[in-house]
Formats: sequence, structure tokens, C-alpha cells
Amino acid sequence: MATVAGVELRVANSWFLIVGLLAFVLAPRIKEQAPDVGSWAYVVGAAVAVLLYASVLLHEISHALAGLAFSMQVRSINLHFLGGATEIEGEATTPWREFVIAVVGPLTSLGIAVVAWASLGLFDDGLLRFAVASLAGANLVVGVLNLVPGLPLDGGRVLQAAVWGVSGKRSAGVVVAAWGGRLAAIAALLYPFLLPTFGYQARLIDYLMAFVLGAFLWAGASQALTAAKVRSKLPTLHARQLARPAIGVPATLPLAEGIRQAQLARAGSLVVVAADGCPVGIVNEAAVTSTPEDRRPWVSCGDLARRMEDGLMISADLTGEELLHAMHRVPASEYVLVEPDGSVYGVLVAKDVDAAYRAA
Ligand SMILES: [Zn+2]
Repeated sequence: MATVAGVELRVANSWFLIVGLLAFVLAPRIKEQAPDVGSWAYVVGAAVAVLLYASVLLHEISHALAGLAFSMQVRSINLHFLGGATEIEGEATTPWREFVIAVVGPLTSLGIAVVAWASLGLFDDGLLRFAVASLAGANLVVGVLNLVPGLPLDGGRVLQAAVWGVSGKRSAGVVVAAWGGRLAAIAALLYPFLLPTFGYQARLIDYLMAFVLGAFLWAGASQALTAAKVRSKLPTLHARQLARPAIGVPATLPLAEGIRQAQLARAGSLVVVAADGCPVGIVNEAAVTSTPEDRRPWVSCGDLARRMEDGLMISADLTGEELLHAMHRVPASEYVLVEPDGSVYGVLVAKDVDAAYRAA
């Protein structure tokens, strides 16, 4: 929708739906405040809903500013029906930074609630007072709910930072905070059933809210656990260790001869090189295996090679997440690993990386 300081602002379609829904819910209350408004109550309701989302936007902007203050790249701010989310590239490098980025959001919401509540006296009874009171109430709820210590809520990230700071292990923080999120999800699902013990009758909207919130929390917490599991395995991946030794062959060399030379050199892969030794292609292993033995003298190595292009040549020094990023940029079954001086170190087969990841 808009880009501010390199940060993209996106508004999901569901957002328009919720603004309409809020307008519908708020309209009767608005008619109570100002009986003369008539059907304008819906327009006023929509305006109040947009005002509430403007405060959600401020909450998200505070996360973004905290990220930028730590020189992190903020990709986007998304507004959706349950509020918003700020996408920050990479992860905080210290528990303190993680804590700050997380905690500024709820603090901003609580700050807006306090300011709105304090300024309530400036307004006489009427629509403006109603709007400011809604702003105070909604931000108090958003601020307090977001401090619940479970992922994916901000409070979960605060807990994660705390456990990380005390234990020195980021993954321990994620696991504790994600289970906090699952407990919060269960609590959300149970609350309409607990209402009668406090003398309230649960309505349909309570069950609906409980289900949406519970599902949102459970999914977010589970996603955090999965991401932590993936991340814990990544550091074990080293391009250099996974590389197959390769030999360079001219494109016109018959495949049978290329295979013979590779076996002699105990190499697991063939790289097609130009006369000056520059790699110009990688022979595709699957294509070799599917070529019958008696055809191999009549097929040239160049015929079974994928032409070299940007992204198929990657540094032999890449590890973990960087390595996966490089492979995602140009999906291929084989990559040429090169030394800093440009010479070929070997060939990285995507299948081997996959197997190593599974075995980790
Ligand atoms: Zn937040």
C-alpha cells in the first residue's frame, strides 16, 4: 500500500472486513451516545474502527523503529484482522535487543491508553468522547493481552529474551515461550466454558472469539517451535564438508570417458570447463544415471550439463542459513563451489545437503 523509509505497509483484505464488522458492532453504542446521527452511526463506527487500527499501526511502528535502531532491516508492517505484525529481517543478536524490540509494542499501546484516558476530561459527552474512550479501552486490552508470556505474542518474546539471557541459549528461550503460547491458547479456548463459574452466560461471540484466538495462538506457538528446530540443525551444514570432489572436462568429451576420468580421480562430479578452465556448466547427476551404459560413449558431457548462470556458483565457505539462502535464490540440483580466488573446490549436490540436514 505504501513504503516509508524502506518499510512496506501492507493491509490484508480481512482488515476491511473487520472494519466493517466493528462499525456494525459500534453503531448501536454510537446511537446511544448521539441519538440524532441516524444511519451515520455506521460511518462514525467505521471511523472509530480506523482510529483503533491507527493505534495498532503505532504499536507496529514502535517494533519497526526498535529494529531499525539496532540496524536491522525492517521488511514490512502488515495490518490484518487480528491486529498487525512487523517483519524484521534476521533475528536479534542479543537477548537485550530481542527484549527491547518486543516490549516497545505493548508499552506503546499502554501509553496510548493512558494518554487517551487522561485526555478524556477535555471532551464533553458525545461522539468524540466515545471515540477517545474506545481508544483508551482498546489499547489497554491490546497492551495487556500482548504481555501474556507466550509466543507469538510480544510477551512471549519478552519471556524468550529473559530465558535466553539467563540460560545463554536462544533455543531454550523459544521452547519455553512457545509452550507458554500453547498454554495461553488452551486458556483462550477454555474461557467461555469458565464464564458461568463467574456468573456470566457465555454468548456465541465468546465461543467464536475463543476459537479464533486459541487457533491463532496455537498455530503461532507451533510455528515458533518448528522454526527453532530447523534453526538448531542449520549450523551443522557446511558447503565445504558436503562437497563432492569434481574434475573439469571439455564440453565435447564423451560421457563414458568423463566418467572413467572421474572414477580414476575418485571425483563424484563433472564440471564442464572452457578452454581457459572457467566453469561453464555442471553435469547433471540424474541425467547421467538415466543414460544407459551403451549410450554413454555417444553422448557428450556438455549435452547433460546445466549451463552456468549467476547463482549456480557459490562460495565454498558458506554455512548454515547463508548456504540455504544461496540455494533458494537459484534452485538447482547441483552447484559449483568456488574458492575466494575463483578456482573450483568441488560440486555441492542439493540431495546431499538434504540428507545431511535430515541426519542432523
Ligand atoms: Zn507487537
